[in-house]
Amino acid sequence: MLVEDGIVQWRDDRQGSADREKEVDLEGRALWPAFIDAHCHILPTGLDLQKLHLGDCAGRAEVLETVWKRHRERPDGWLLAVHYDQTKFPDGEHLTRSELDRISGDRPILLRHSNGHASVANSAALRAAGVDETTPDPPGGTYRRDASGRLDGVLLEMAHEIVSEASPKPTRDEMVEAILLAGERMAALGIGCASDMMTGRFDLLDELDAYRLAAERGCGIRTRLYLQWKPVFGGRRVEPDLLQERIRALPGDRCRVAGVKIFADGAIGSATAAIYGRYTGEAPAGPTIGRRSRPAASAHAETSGQLIYKPERLTQMVETAHEAGHQVAVHAIGDYAVDLVLDAFEATGEPSRHRIEHAMLLSDAQIERLARLNPFVTMQPEFLMRFGHAYRRQLGSERAAKLKRARSVLDAGIRLSFSSDRPIVPGDPRDGISAAVERPEGFDPGEAVPHEEALVAYTAAGAEVNGDGGRMGSLTPGQLADFRLDPR
Ligand SMILES: [Zn+2]
Repeated sequence: MLVEDGIVQWRDDRQGSADREKEVDLEGRALWPAFIDAHCHILPTGLDLQKLHLGDCAGRAEVLETVWKRHRERPDGWLLAVHYDQTKFPDGEHLTRSELDRISGDRPILLRHSNGHASVANSAALRAAGVDETTPDPPGGTYRRDASGRLDGVLLEMAHEIVSEASPKPTRDEMVEAILLAGERMAALGIGCASDMMTGRFDLLDELDAYRLAAERGCGIRTRLYLQWKPVFGGRRVEPDLLQERIRALPGDRCRVAGVKIFADGAIGSATAAIYGRYTGEAPAGPTIGRRSRPAASAHAETSGQLIYKPERLTQMVETAHEAGHQVAVHAIGDYAVDLVLDAFEATGEPSRHRIEHAMLLSDAQIERLARLNPFVTMQPEFLMRFGHAYRRQLGSERAAKLKRARSVLDAGIRLSFSSDRPIVPGDPRDGISAAVERPEGFDPGEAVPHEEALVAYTAAGAEVNGDGGRMGSLTPGQLADFRLDPR
């Protein structure tokens, strides 16, 4: 393979050739196209690397002890922890704010659930966010209460977002450092390009500056940015001229804006994905957000989980972004949410331009509908390795076995790519690929994907969904020469 100016010039099997400036002997290692992680969270990955990690705690006592230790070691500011997961506890019950208050009554403590859609706060964190016993639940979220009606500190969806947002925002320089750190870790895994699916979480303009500066300082990966809908079009909209200026300043191939991101529902682990039917299993189900009959799309009358927006509003938001010329990526985990997103995509008249994220629960009829409307679909197979216990608890083992129907989706001709959704999971693409190829125990092996197709889903198909189709992902002549080597 001859590479010039970062572009593949030609590739063939001939041995030896004249005037080579620099020849690299791979010493028997194989050279592959670099992975493309088309759905993850780059800045949050970097920021999380600096927070307290609870992923290895198997019980409540261990979590409390770890938090207590951190509190003593670093007593200032908010104590932020990540990868909290009560589904790993023997009783599956969340910690409560009173347990955290015993560690500190006046320092805010916030433990974020590993699914990214829920958290547990102590009283100081609730206070800092202006939440008290009289605060009503926000639309699309829940401040959970105990049997006596008092806040118990468990925060679901928008409630989790509101309290998280009360913690201090990283400065622009801290963001640049975090992006560089994430880029370095990801490049070490053989990733060449990644999409950030929530740019604008803290401050859209600062984040765009930070991604530009990180790229200019040699970020280890190319970055593609999907901007949150709200700061672009919604209530906390930034000045459009300033936004355009920041977007134009991005250095193109190294970093550019690729689209707009919207959330349609929550996650299965917190019983907030919008599904047909009910959550089952031992854990208490999330609040039922409405029983809506949808005679046109489905025979099911009952739905459970949480819609982030009413269906009409979702359609309107997708149309607004579509009309402004953006590719729209919508998070939809539950089957009910998938139907609503497809309704919204269909209303744009150009459903094949847009992308649906996760699509974890799909009926045969929905796969047919996806094939007809032809949006891009992204899946994160590593979830099957990490959250199987939570899925079975919330859905029962039969429905859980059918999650992530990659084989059926590919067979239907749908453009499927694989990605990690880091920092929710560690995110080594090799883990994602083996989860797709081998389907962990408890998941229907009929949905397994051959290794070669899984590789394509993590490379060339990722380029396509990001709008880089043909530019990278397969090392053919003319493409960007982003490659990885097998470890020695
Ligand atoms: Zn995500």
